[in-house]
Amino acid sequence: MHIPFCARKCAYCDFLSFPGNRQMQQEYTQKLLEEIKYQSAYAGEYQVISIFIGGGTPSILEINQMTAILEALNSQFDIHPEAEITLEANPGTVTSEALVQYKSEGVNRISMGLQSADDKELNYLGRIHTYDEFLKSYQRVRMAGFDNVNVDLISAIPGQTVESWKNTLKKVTMLKPEHISAYSLIVEEGTPFYDRYGEHVEMDNDSMTREERRRLMSLPDLPDEDLEREMYYLTREFLKEQGYERYEISNYSRKGYECRHNIGYWTGTEYLGLGLGSSSYMNGCRFHNTASYQEYKNGGFERKEEFDKLLRQEFERLTMEEKMEEYMFLGLRLIEGVSAHGFVSSFGQNIRHVYGPVLDKLEREGLLELKEGFYRLTERGIDISNYVMSQFLM
Ligand code: SF4
Repeated sequence: MHIPFCARKCAYCDFLSFPGNRQMQQEYTQKLLEEIKYQSAYAGEYQVISIFIGGGTPSILEINQMTAILEALNSQFDIHPEAEITLEANPGTVTSEALVQYKSEGVNRISMGLQSADDKELNYLGRIHTYDEFLKSYQRVRMAGFDNVNVDLISAIPGQTVESWKNTLKKVTMLKPEHISAYSLIVEEGTPFYDRYGEHVEMDNDSMTREERRRLMSLPDLPDEDLEREMYYLTREFLKEQGYERYEISNYSRKGYECRHNIGYWTGTEYLGLGLGSSSYMNGCRFHNTASYQEYKNGGFERKEEFDKLLRQEFERLTMEEKMEEYMFLGLRLIEGVSAHGFVSSFGQNIRHVYGPVLDKLEREGLLELKEGFYRLTERGIDISNYVMSQFLM
């Protein structure tokens, strides 16, 4: 479920998110409640095993708005009693009262966007909080009784050194969250960071290199690929020493706290997206909701035509080949890899009949290995995972 509002747009963010005043939050909540009602009619045969309320910043909504949303989900969907229910809460937007209320409505996992424990880096990223404010929010989350907490981090931030990244990892692991996501920064088009660091930047002025131009503008340097990899290896080793298992390329957890929602995504479980711009995969079909706030706000979902127009966009039934490709390139993100047996169960064909030459080639190149019935990336394969994944496209 997508809640698109944020207090302020971060400098690296290309998500569908924007600041929203109280009136927008109220009208969005109303629309979401309508959407839940009409979408649930198509999900009668499903039991929900996980819910992820993300954004944007879901915790920016008023308590009564989030309560209404959670109650609507509970009443309209068949939710498994042990379902994992995650809510993203950004530091600086969570009150103790709201957290207690989320918990009483069934939320059992909180995901917090910290990104860095260095205030200078936070400021450069355009985050609204300091590390101290994060600490206060983290304490509130624990005090409210949440025993499953994720902290999101970003490495390879402009100006970041291996030392400062290690310091972030140290500070965060001292708090003992159950789960840590640590992604490297990607400079996305359409963001303020793209204007400062995008590939196109030096094209503007042939006489100046990208570095010279940045120096002139007093911009910190973006870590190069070698430094980015060094930070990744440090993350892997340091978190392992601290008792975190890397179960996906960029995700680490204590045993038993792997994010069930994300694992579902990487292993082809069906999902229904709710809210502005959200994506779905159901009955072998992909589709998404409109990303236009105006269209969503004015949508009359009770009318079938409008429902289909706004909530079934780019409706597409995946072919067998496309499903196989996804099985491989999503599954290979998991450290345990993809199951050869699972491939037969899903597609009725031996994985070697479909991908034999590709598997052999990648094994010869030292990028892939077969272990106990699972094909998985080697460490070298992880370093150039985009190349490896692309080999599975038919
Ligand atoms: S809080 Fe998250 S979604 Fe919102 S602007 Fe920042 S990065 Fe984007």
